[in-house]
Amino acid sequence: MAQFKTLDGRVLRSVSLSEFTKHIELEVNGVSRFGFVPGQWLSVKATTPYGEEITRAYSIASPPSENGHFAFCLNRVQDGFMSNHLCSLNEGATIAFQGPFGDFILRPPLRDTVFIATGTGIAPFRSMLHWLLAERDRHRGHQFWLLFGARREQDIYYREEFENLAADHDNFHCLPTLSRAATEWKGLRGYVQEHLPEIVGTRSDMHAYICGLDKMVQANRELLKAMGWDRTSVRYEKYD
Ligand SMILES: Cc1cc2nc3c(=O)[nH]c(=O)nc-3n(C[C@H](O)[C@H](O)[C@H](O)COP(=O)(O)OP(=O)(O)OC[C@H]3O[C@@H](n4cnc5c(N)ncnc54)[C@H](O)[C@@H]3O)c2cc1C
Repeated sequence: MAQFKTLDGRVLRSVSLSEFTKHIELEVNGVSRFGFVPGQWLSVKATTPYGEEITRAYSIASPPSENGHFAFCLNRVQDGFMSNHLCSLNEGATIAFQGPFGDFILRPPLRDTVFIATGTGIAPFRSMLHWLLAERDRHRGHQFWLLFGARREQDIYYREEFENLAADHDNFHCLPTLSRAATEWKGLRGYVQEHLPEIVGTRSDMHAYICGLDKMVQANRELLKAMGWDRTSVRYEKYD
């Protein structure tokens, strides 16, 4: 079996995105350049208080950078060790990880694309969209929709950042939809799959990328299949 090098990451910053969700920025120790493809994940290792070594996968939530910095978008899972451990780390703490791994990456040729996420499933799309929209040669004017499902307005992670990206690029559309919206909410309501037909219409010449928990991923895959989409046009990453 192939051996992968274990690297150290040092926490530079940890910011709350909501009550149970953190954005943490890290730098890789001891390497001049840390390469990965937007959409890939890292395998984080830690030892529980019972002496058990565990590993968990976390998508990289930032685009590749020159300085070896990267970010995670993490949700505290009830009774889970790793998610709570990572969300509790302070600035200066270190983690051990291997990677990057995974093939949930943008598949050529680039087409108009809908990115569908709930919760921390936004992480790989934050990486992909920042990377894509940074240069015209990368996005070539294609249309991109980010359909992001959250419960309440305060759970729309990176809201300002994606709204600014949409304001700067008329080919990027940020569409948060809330399942428990307050009466004042003027945006979309309900689950992500309820809005997919409006975005896609009768087209099947697009790509769809789906990331989050199994139930949501399945619902969207089944809907796209029923709408006549080819399996190869849909890529997904399940977190559970
Ligand atoms: C490829 C990949 C990428 C991932 N990227 C991210 C990421 O960017 N951010 C992130 O927060 N998580 C991500 N995850 C989930 C992560 O790997 C862990 O499963 C999660 O943090 C729980 O680990 P734990 O040790 O805290 O809890 P565990 O002890 O492993 O799990 C406790 C219980 O919670 C369930 N569970 C696992 N994950 C979730 C979840 N996300 N929401 C609700 N219940 C869950 C498990 O089925 C289990 O029953 C990713 C998973 C995969 C496979």
